[in-house]
Amino acid sequence: MLIAGNWKMYKGPAETAAFCRALRDQELDGVDVVVCPPYVSLATAVELLAGTEIGVAAQNVHWDGEGPYTGEVSASMLRELGVYGAIVGHSERRQYFGETDETVAKRARAALAAGLFVIACVGETEDERARDETETVLRRQVGALGDPDENLVIAYEPVWAIGTGKTATPELAQEAHALIKSLLDVPVLYGGSVKPDNAAELLAQPGVDGALVGGASLDLDSFTAICRAATR
Ligand code: PEP
Repeated sequence: MLIAGNWKMYKGPAETAAFCRALRDQELDGVDVVVCPPYVSLATAVELLAGTEIGVAAQNVHWDGEGPYTGEVSASMLRELGVYGAIVGHSERRQYFGETDETVAKRARAALAAGLFVIACVGETEDERARDETETVLRRQVGALGDPDENLVIAYEPVWAIGTGKTATPELAQEAHALIKSLLDVPVLYGGSVKPDNAAELLAQPGVDGALVGGASLDLDSFTAICRAATR
């Protein structure tokens, strides 16, 4: 099981340092744990979690090694910092920053080629689900990612469940995970309002290999409670 915390645009270096100091003192055996701070806090997280089993990943990564791409960061720059992986294709990137299936795939492939671990996010919007297009959307988004890779995992994040307090029912998550796995044979995390009180049930579903956690990953107690639910 893998539990990854996506901190989004929260926690600068000072807050990151305090969180990582507390996190490294926790007993979190039997679960793989990753935190994904904003770019400016990555170096702090890498430094404070060095020597632990906890991985540090970025929230995005560019496909070129360097170049005239204002505001972007490359995989080799992340590697230089000691960062272990990157999220790509989060729905907030797709919705607010114009990410497409094509750019998400370019980011994923370049990051994998550079030796990073990649969490690629897919998921349907509320409208797409209402129009019965979930399967079509997942087929398109997963298909664009290319071949399986030992460093690739997918996060199934129904967009209507992100930050809304709504979660997919365990059955619905299981159905989507089964479809994704039939398309690409990689581990699949569930994301969308995972909290300490629903984590165990969601993580117990066949085909659910862990969770990508947003809001609940910002608080040490709720994040570690979810990590512990994954060990059961
Ligand atoms: C996310 O942003 O990846 C996410 C799943 O957010 P939340 O847990 O807050 O719904």
